Amino acid sequence: MNDLIYALATPVGGAIAVVRISGPGAEALLKRVFTGRGAPREMAYGRVVDGAGETLDEAMAAFFPAPRSYTGEDMAELYLHGGQVTVRRVLALLGCHARSARPGEFTERAFLAGKMDLAQAEAVMDLINAGAERSAKSALAQLEGRLSARIVGVERELLDALSGLEAAIDYPEELEDDVTSALPEVLAAAEQELHALAGAGLSGRVLREGARVAIVGRPNAGKSSLLNALAGAERAIVTRFAGTTRDVLEETVSMEGVPVTLYDTAGIRAADDPVERIGVERARLAAERADLLLVCFDAAAPLTEEDLALLRETEGRPRIAVCNKSDLPALWSAETLAAQGISACTVSAETGEGLASLRHAIAVRVAPEQESALVTNARHIEALQLAAASVAEAQQNAGGAELELVATDLRETLSALGQITGRTAAADLIERIFSKFCVGK
Ligand code: GDP
Repeated sequence: MNDLIYALATPVGGAIAVVRISGPGAEALLKRVFTGRGAPREMAYGRVVDGAGETLDEAMAAFFPAPRSYTGEDMAELYLHGGQVTVRRVLALLGCHARSARPGEFTERAFLAGKMDLAQAEAVMDLINAGAERSAKSALAQLEGRLSARIVGVERELLDALSGLEAAIDYPEELEDDVTSALPEVLAAAEQELHALAGAGLSGRVLREGARVAIVGRPNAGKSSLLNALAGAERAIVTRFAGTTRDVLEETVSMEGVPVTLYDTAGIRAADDPVERIGVERARLAAERADLLLVCFDAAAPLTEEDLALLRETEGRPRIAVCNKSDLPALWSAETLAAQGISACTVSAETGEGLASLRHAIAVRVAPEQESALVTNARHIEALQLAAASVAEAQQNAGGAELELVATDLRETLSALGQITGRTAAADLIERIFSKFCVGK
């Protein structure tokens, strides 16, 4: 059974000082030191009086009966005048009847009462400590339980899978096909979600593998030259004959700190030559899987039917139109495309003109700074990475016949996720987390 605790919840020296009381006997204590009487959760006006009947302050107070309070226990709050002497005297009075709370003890009680999970409790502290608007926003999102909700979603899927597995292990003769046949899909989805969460802010995959940026365009538009210019290396073969880039060439470079893998695709067009046809097919695949398309045009030549077809085909996809060969007399300009709402950059792969702004545009598009990153806490990211790794292992083991191995991996995954919500967090970890809180929270 918890004891009765109290603490000053506001900084010393403000105009108003809020004192919190929580635990069994909170209501009795409030009645003892405060003359006002109000309905539950309503403000009452009265005087704070000590044992000798002396008035210490004129104040407001409210009583929050369990379980509808911050801690889930009976709670009272006193709103005093902020003067140092007053506050000290009231605290001394409360100290005769209750124990001074440890840092974070109110929130710890809320967590233990199941009012919030560990991630939410930590968000309370992040919210208090947030120095920037965006940090506060993300803390609030976590406090609202948006991170927890997504984790619980994954947990539920994996628990289902695990219980199916366990049944299959215990009663192999009754093994149902769908337990194992549904497994790859469930595991793949869980891994994807965990990775997405682990890398939230910048997308997890973008940071790990680099954003996939495919350069598409009709032959001779300058795709290979563009890849070389962006990569700063003679990687792709450049010739003056159309249709020479028969394979998909790739190069990973850093653009303003964001890893980007550039794919140069063979001109997507109807090809007769079988080798070229394979190239075309692979180009289509690279383009389909890309996070961003650079649609390359030769601005020194008239827009062709092929160019227009490409514009139509890539509509609705994330894309940047690149008007290449700006060193030559232009037959049309990027504004033509911009007028249609297509973001366009003018560059010369030959001279390097405009490449810096293209790099910037690419970085911004593939790694936009999110309004509020859902996962900001290093402890959470670590646990998510751990969970993602064990689920990846489960995926590998799911290919074999050893169901027991998969079950072990899944238990590890669930345990890592429980570290975030607090379901499986050890007592000392919980204590350490709450000890970093301020007193009164
Ligand atoms: P791809 O078929 O789209 O890969 O085009 P390439 O990169 O092979 O280039 C086709 C031709 O255009 C080559 O002769 C390049 O030298 C030339 N080229 C590419 N970019 C530029 C540029 O910015 N300026 C000029 N003047 N020529 C370019």
